[in-house]
Amino acid sequence: MQIVIKPSQQEELDFIFKSGLFKAKLQAHEVVDWRIRKRSLDARKTNIKLNLHLEFWKKGEEREKVSAWKAKEIDPSKRIAIIGAGPAGLYAALRALEAGLMPIVFERGKDVRARRRDLAAINKEQLVNSESNYCFGEGGAGTYSDGKLYTRSKKRGNVLKALEWLVHFGAQEDILVDAHPHIGTNKLPAIITAMREAIIAAGGEVHFNAKLTDIQLENGALSGLQINEGNWQPFKEVVLATGHSARDIFYLLHKRGVLIKAKAFALGVRAEHPQELIDQIQYHGDTDNPYLPPASYALVEQVNGLGVYSFCMCPGGIIAPCATEQNEVVTNGWSPSKRNNPYANSGIVVSVAPEDLPNFTPNDPFVCLDFQKKVEQDCWEAAGKTQKVPAQRMIDFVTGTLSKDFPKTSYQPGITSVNLSEVLPPLISKRLKKAFKIFGQKMKGYYTNEAVLHAPESRTSSPISIPRDPESLEHIEIRGIYPCGEGAGYAGGIISAAIDGINCVDAIAKKLEMSAKN
Ligand SMILES: Cc1cc2nc3c(=O)[nH]c(=O)nc-3n(C[C@H](O)[C@H](O)[C@H](O)COP(=O)(O)OP(=O)(O)OC[C@H]3O[C@@H](n4cnc5c(N)ncnc54)[C@H](O)[C@@H]3O)c2cc1C
Repeated sequence: MQIVIKPSQQEELDFIFKSGLFKAKLQAHEVVDWRIRKRSLDARKTNIKLNLHLEFWKKGEEREKVSAWKAKEIDPSKRIAIIGAGPAGLYAALRALEAGLMPIVFERGKDVRARRRDLAAINKEQLVNSESNYCFGEGGAGTYSDGKLYTRSKKRGNVLKALEWLVHFGAQEDILVDAHPHIGTNKLPAIITAMREAIIAAGGEVHFNAKLTDIQLENGALSGLQINEGNWQPFKEVVLATGHSARDIFYLLHKRGVLIKAKAFALGVRAEHPQELIDQIQYHGDTDNPYLPPASYALVEQVNGLGVYSFCMCPGGIIAPCATEQNEVVTNGWSPSKRNNPYANSGIVVSVAPEDLPNFTPNDPFVCLDFQKKVEQDCWEAAGKTQKVPAQRMIDFVTGTLSKDFPKTSYQPGITSVNLSEVLPPLISKRLKKAFKIFGQKMKGYYTNEAVLHAPESRTSSPISIPRDPESLEHIEIRGIYPCGEGAGYAGGIISAAIDGINCVDAIAKKLEMSAKN
């Protein structure tokens, strides 16, 4: 049952319940339970509305249970390796325990607590630890992310399960209701810690500072893994969930003859506006309404044959330094649960396919990765070889004027004034220039010199895919390797990576069950 209310009425539960009953033509005594199933804000017109989808249970009907996570007794002979403790790896481990398999997780980075010190070092001392940073460490790139939980994944049951497990491990139930659920960077570490503790308590293993350094293959199948260049450990199944920044894994697979392919990805800049300005635009000037959350936006346009779009918009957010090596710079964004910073940032990126790139040759798996790496290194050099990033005001960028000064930025390591057209490839900069003007027509006030562009936004998705069989989810040529999550090209965000982790383990469980029967 759908009802429409004013945002100021959202806490009036009695009013909401009665409005729903009226619309459903039900009497209160006929109903045993009810809930708000979905909540979404509609700010397209000046009369801003909140759409609520309500669910009622009548006498004799039972409300379905939240799918909580539950471990089975494990069979230690069924050991599977999981490389990476990001959303894909953690969900794979949790699912393995539900299926009675024994997950052994190897994570190159540190646990969430210890990781904080390395993040502080990037922000304050310009030092990047290549094993522990915003991308590497417990919880993966998801830990110090925004925790926006929307996904384009179509299977609602799967999405709900992934969200319900987050609630099981400590997230607020609101994420099950909001159309655009969001957890916030401040809340994610405790949830991830709870997941790890549950994995260990149920008999799984989680090893930190444990980096996959080599793989052993025999007759087209996995036979062993080497961690930190140590002794070979026998494994027949590995979930490879190392994320989009583990370049050494792509090089390793290529060296060992495991097929990988170049994949389309997107690259551009991170634009930062005052949040108040975005609120004014999106809420038609109604910026004092305490019932409206900091506004977000989504923009997309085709420019000269390539898509230019906003990516990972963070209302009330912070721009984060996400490099994984000292000689590169990378931006991304996060926000705390309250989204109460005065900045609104978003990636504005151009989508590029391998064949769009100047150095394209068929069968070169590294054409996109090389392009991405060069832009990151060029930006590092242009901004002074620290973690400062090259920056330019929006209109200055479009008109080719070096910015003389800047408003305050949320990017902690700092910014250097650079003409971004001189550091970004023309393929990208020319399209961005056109797109900003068009975006300014779509959102009046967006195209402004109050906005500062920080470069580059380059880790939007993996520049490489690791091909797998759509049924068995095993690598198309090597048995026992399960390419998983964002790094392998099968996810684009926390929830889709988590779902992919579950799917890979289900495929392993099915294979083990079949081979036990034969
Ligand atoms: C700042 C920031 C903000 C973001 N905001 C959002 C958001 O709001 N919503 C959203 O949905 N997504 C967001 N993302 C993207 C999201 O975090 C990723 O899509 C998601 O984490 C991918 O999950 P994954 O498990 O596939 O890989 P990852 O999270 O990248 O995890 C891979 C893990 O593998 C480990 N690893 C790599 N190589 C090795 C090795 N050789 N041996 C052992 N371990 C290894 C890494 O240390 C890492 O922990 C954000 C990302 C960043 C960086």
